[in-house]
Amino acid sequence: MVAEVLIETSVKNLNKTFDYQIPVELLDKIKIGTRVNVPFGNQKNLEDGIVIGIKEKSEYKVKNIASIQKEQIKDEYIKLAKWMGNRYFCNTADCLRLMLPPGRTTKNVNNRVKERTITIYNLNNFKDEKNIENILNDKKIIRTEKQKNVIEFLMNNNDVTMEDITLFTDAKKSTIDTLIKKEIIIKKEINEFRNPFLHKVKEKTKDLKLTDEQQIAINSIDVNSNNEYLIYGVTGSGKTEIYMQLIEKMLKENKSSIVLVPEISLTPQTIDRFIGRFSEENIAVLHSKLSIGERYDEWNKIKDGRAKIIIGARSAIFAPCSNLGMIIIDEEHDESYQSESNPRYDALEVAEFLKDEFNIPLILGSATPDMKTFYKAKNNKIKLLTLTKRANESTLPDVKIIDLRNELAHNNKSMISFKLKEEIEKNLHDKKQTILFFNRRGFSSFLMCKDCGHTFKCKRCNITLTYHKNENILKCHYCGYEEKVPRICPKCNSTNISYVGAGTQKLEEEVKTMFKNATTIRMDVDTVSKKNSHEEILNKFKNENIDILIGTQMVVKGHHFPNVTLVGAIFADTDLNIGDFRASERTFQTLTQVSGRAGREKDKGRVIIQTFNPENYAIEFAKTQNFDLFYNTEIEIRKQLKYPPFCDIIVIGLSSKNNEQLKIASKKIHSYLKNRVINEKFGLLLYSPVPCPINKIKDRYRMRIIIKCIYDDRVHDLLSDSLDEFQKLKLDKENRISIQINPNNMM
Ligand code: ADP
Ligand code: ZN
Ligand code: ZN
Repeated sequence: MVAEVLIETSVKNLNKTFDYQIPVELLDKIKIGTRVNVPFGNQKNLEDGIVIGIKEKSEYKVKNIASIQKEQIKDEYIKLAKWMGNRYFCNTADCLRLMLPPGRTTKNVNNRVKERTITIYNLNNFKDEKNIENILNDKKIIRTEKQKNVIEFLMNNNDVTMEDITLFTDAKKSTIDTLIKKEIIIKKEINEFRNPFLHKVKEKTKDLKLTDEQQIAINSIDVNSNNEYLIYGVTGSGKTEIYMQLIEKMLKENKSSIVLVPEISLTPQTIDRFIGRFSEENIAVLHSKLSIGERYDEWNKIKDGRAKIIIGARSAIFAPCSNLGMIIIDEEHDESYQSESNPRYDALEVAEFLKDEFNIPLILGSATPDMKTFYKAKNNKIKLLTLTKRANESTLPDVKIIDLRNELAHNNKSMISFKLKEEIEKNLHDKKQTILFFNRRGFSSFLMCKDCGHTFKCKRCNITLTYHKNENILKCHYCGYEEKVPRICPKCNSTNISYVGAGTQKLEEEVKTMFKNATTIRMDVDTVSKKNSHEEILNKFKNENIDILIGTQMVVKGHHFPNVTLVGAIFADTDLNIGDFRASERTFQTLTQVSGRAGREKDKGRVIIQTFNPENYAIEFAKTQNFDLFYNTEIEIRKQLKYPPFCDIIVIGLSSKNNEQLKIASKKIHSYLKNRVINEKFGLLLYSPVPCPINKIKDRYRMRIIIKCIYDDRVHDLLSDSLDEFQKLKLDKENRISIQINPNNMM
């Protein structure tokens, strides 16, 4: 028999399989998914490979598989990797790598992560207590007080380390060695599990009595189906409680559950809720801040079936569960579920694939579902379960919208409106906490009329034009439309048009000047960098009762601060002008989420939203957190302008260190596509290459070509061919191309 082996390197032209003869002695050991070592080319070392197909014979003269490795990949994941390679225009091997144990990506075997082992000591298995008592009193056996102390210590404690013994008994290693020789103590080596929960306080909780709405939702979920559900419930409506009770059901059937949460809300607060309910041994946590060793341990804990609840960010979707029973994706609208580096997968789509492959339910949850998800729910492709009330009977906050034009008219040039200032003062007086939120998504800038709030949009795409300071022009980053910076506002004739900038740092300075005695803490990309420091900031804010937390969208998600009663959104217009068709959706989501942080307990929360566009529907509907109204308005606009879910936006991204080469390559790919589109009569809109909103990252220039169409197999093949075309250009190695369908991040 011959195996088709995928070599585990990501060199582009190795994205194909190679045939190897299966030696007779390995015939019954090699299956699809077996990892093997094979000779490759004239390399000295063996290469790692994965068997992804088996056939009778090969048309080539082939070498033998040298040996097999311990790990296997399940069939379903091999299928998944193949599907991903095709769906996301990337190497199957790169996708498979997401499913391999962490730390095994290096070629050098010695670099691989090893389990750390520790030595533990126990008393030998004596038949009964009597025996050990007898030994203890037998002066012939036990000669010293120290020996006696050690035995007594071990009578009360199991699995202790040498450090434990010496610390508690004052005995030395020699004493223990003597007792081992006498076969009173035995020692053994075990794998040490680096435990990421070690610092935790554990308060046990029990299932809460469900509200009627929660009960109906749970009853509607068929845990033995492959249905997809959306739990659509306002913030605080008790979605997490539902997840936990569903997991409980799974555990009873000995099945595992994967719970995905946005990377940023993987805080101890979230994890503690699960640990509080389930035993810690049952839980594995996977996220990017874990050390490789920690990740390796967690991975094994899942693989061995010790952990049946897997909580993690995006990549936890690939956790190697032994008996997967359900996938939950909380805050399903969150952008972090899409990977922005190769392979650029969408965890939601991967979950949908696994749902059918394993025949298990997929449960999505959100207070502000993604437009696409809600559209599917409305069309019965996803079962909709609605929670309308907060579970602990706290009321939704009181939201006020402040028109920043009035502030300017009253000569308030500060970032903090009169009303917000008054509310902060009230909170300081009452010793309540405040969160001030300033969104600075991406770093793209736009122009705005400071008198009427007017911003400039592309007439073709209805997208806010990006301001290019150097050239002093406005540009559409979808279609390439350009215009000169206008001097006069077309809406109100004012000349007070300016560029929008400023950020959290400036805000903090203003807050400090305005409220001299207030304590503040800031959280943004600049202050969050070290491991845990995101948590540290939040803990500090909570535990030290700091008056004001100032931050970017990081502060918005998932946290529960009982003493926060006031939230101020300093400038709601940033999201409205991100130069993306999702601008309104993002605005609504962010404002709703941020409002959800206020008044989660008994005290009613207050929210102040500052904007130049108070009449904008996204802001208007965020005021009452009315997603349904927002959805109805937005979906009509999407339909009219042919944006998702009615049409797909495909982004072909090109990047290079050499701007000239990049421009030429972009043109060539564009004309290749254009010819085929015309000749083969594709019904799609192909735009000319334009610089990305962020047109240079880490010395690489970036351009893109946007296609608007309904994505189908024919379009897929066209795109795939354009990748080959790019290879044919034989550019320097550092020129890159990527293709994404409806990417979240259009920067
Ligand atoms: P969500 O996940 O929808 O934001 P949570 O599950 O965090 O909501 O619930 C919000 C608060 O309500 C939490 O403090 C939680 O303990 C409480 N809660 C949830 N379900 C119930 C219930 N059935 N009875 C009482 N309190 C509940
Ligand atoms: Zn104006
Ligand atoms: Zn345009």
